[in-house]
Amino acid sequence: MDLTKQVNNRKTFAIISHPDAGKTTLTEKLLLFGGAIREAGTVKGKKTGKFATSDWMDIEQQRGISVTSSVMQFEYDGIKVNILDTPGHEDFSEDTYRTLMAVDSAVMVIDCAKGIEPQTLKLFKVCKMRGIPIFTFINKLDRVGKEPFELLEEIESTLDIETYPMTWPIGMGQSFFGIIDRNEKYIEPFRDEEHRLNLNEDYELETSHPIENDSVFTQAIEELMLVDEAGDAFDQEKIAKGDMTPVFFGSALANFGVMNFLNAYIDHAPSPKGRKTVDDEFIAPDHDEFSGFIFKIQANMDPKHRDRIAFMRVVSGQFERGMDATLTRTGKKSKISRSTMFMADSTETVNDAYSGDIIGLYDTGTYQIGDTLCDKGKIQYEALPQFTPEIFMKVSAKNVMKQKHFHKGVEQLVQEGAIQYYKSMHTNQVILGAVGQLQFEVFTHRMQSEYNVEVVMDPIGKKEARWIHNEEDVTDAMNSPRSMLVLDRYDRKVFLFENDFAMRWFEDKFPNIELYSLL
Ligand code: GDP
Repeated sequence: MDLTKQVNNRKTFAIISHPDAGKTTLTEKLLLFGGAIREAGTVKGKKTGKFATSDWMDIEQQRGISVTSSVMQFEYDGIKVNILDTPGHEDFSEDTYRTLMAVDSAVMVIDCAKGIEPQTLKLFKVCKMRGIPIFTFINKLDRVGKEPFELLEEIESTLDIETYPMTWPIGMGQSFFGIIDRNEKYIEPFRDEEHRLNLNEDYELETSHPIENDSVFTQAIEELMLVDEAGDAFDQEKIAKGDMTPVFFGSALANFGVMNFLNAYIDHAPSPKGRKTVDDEFIAPDHDEFSGFIFKIQANMDPKHRDRIAFMRVVSGQFERGMDATLTRTGKKSKISRSTMFMADSTETVNDAYSGDIIGLYDTGTYQIGDTLCDKGKIQYEALPQFTPEIFMKVSAKNVMKQKHFHKGVEQLVQEGAIQYYKSMHTNQVILGAVGQLQFEVFTHRMQSEYNVEVVMDPIGKKEARWIHNEEDVTDAMNSPRSMLVLDRYDRKVFLFENDFAMRWFEDKFPNIELYSLL
C-alpha cells in the first residue's frame, strides 16, 4: 500500500473526560467494535495486569486513578484507529497536555447529569486553542440528566465552539426511548426488543408505533426541528478547525449510540496531519522520509531494569523496525530494533508504522521530550509547548551527602518532562513547578525508588508564573516575596506572583515590563 493510502487509513485521537464520565467504558466499547478485545473489562483490568508491576504505578493504585496515559490501536471498517487515553483526574500532569500534541482529534466524554466539569475544561481549552477537532459524546442517557439544549449551550459557551448534534435523545433515564439519527432519519431504540424505526424528512414515523403518542417523542421531534431551523449548519471545515463539534448522545455502559458515534467519527475525523519544523517547513504525512517526535517518556515500566519507553508519534514516511534513524538533536544515527505498539490487551513488537501511529521505543536515556527522529537528521519538529505550572515547591536532598544523586535525579526527571525546573536568582535554590499536585508525589516517589534520594519539599504554594519579553529591563528591585524572580531551565527569567492581585499591582508599577504566560 502506498504512503498516501496508509495515511488515509488512519485516525488518531485522544479521549478526554472528567473522572467517572465514562471514558474507560466508552473506550472498551470502541475496542469491542474493533474486535480488539473479546470482552469488555480489559481496559480497567490492565491496571492489575503487568503494567501494574511498576513501582511508580503504586501511586496510581493507591489513589485509584490513572496517572499515565496509554495508547491503544484497533481496526474498524478497514481503518486503523489509535486512541490515546488521558488521565482525567484534577491532578493530571503536563503529560496529559502533551498527549494532545500527538493526536489529530479529541473525543470528549461528558456525563449528561454533570455537563462540562471544571477540572477537564482546561484540557478542552487546549484543544480549542490548538485547533484540534473535538467530537463530543454525551454519556449516561439511561440516567436522568440535564436537558440536551442546556448541555449544548454549556459546551458552546464554555468552549466558544459551535455544536452540531448528530443524534438527538428521545427522553432520558426511565423514559429513555432511544436516539434519532439526524442525517439518516431513523430512531435507534434503546431497548433490545424494539426495532429501528425509519422517519421521513419531516421526522414522521414511516410505520406507526405507540411511541408516536408519547410526549417524550413529540418533545424530541419539536426540539430537533428547532435545531434544524435555528442551529448551525453542518460544516466539515469548521469541524476540521475545531470551531464546531459534532455531538452524540448515548450510553457507553449499555453500548448504545456508540456505533453511531464510531461510524460518524470515521467519516468526519481528520486523517493524520503533518507537523511544522523549527524552520517553519511543513512536513506532510505522506512525505517520503520517515520522521516522528517523542512526546512522552515513561520510566520504570519494569522495576528490575531502569529502562524507559519513549512514545513517538510518527509524522511522515514509513517506520521500519531495525531501521537506522538519526536523532536530529545529536546528529547520531542508531538502529532501532526494539519498538512496540500497544494493542488493547497486549504490547506487540511493531515492524512498520505510518503517520498517526504511536509507537514505543526502548530507551536507555537517549531521548528527551520533543526529540525528532528521522532518516537524514535534517528534520526537527517544533518544540512541544511548555505549560505554565501553577504549584511550586522548594526542593532539596534530606541528606546533604546525596547532592550528586539528587541533581542527577532532578536532571533526568526534568528531561523526561515529569516536572519543571526553576532556581532562585541568587541562591540557586532548586524550585520545581507542576500543573498538578500529583506530579510532586510522583517526583518524590521516583527520587526515592530510582535515585535513592529522600527529598524535602517546602511548598511555596500556588503562583502565577509569567515570562518576560524584555528581560534586559528587569532589575533586582523588582524581586520581592510577592513577585519572586527565578530562572527556568533555559535560564529565562520568570516572575512568580503571589496571586493575580500582586501581578496587577506589579504591572501598574512597572508598565514597561512585558509579561507573558505559556499555554
Ligand atoms: P472514567 O473515569 O471516565 O473512565 O469512567 P468509567 O468508564 O470508569 O465509568 C465510571 C462509572 O460510570 C462506572 O461505574 C461505569 O459503569 C458508569 N458508567 C459508564 N457509562 C455509563 C452509562 O452510560 N450509564 C450509566 N448509568 N453508567 C455508566
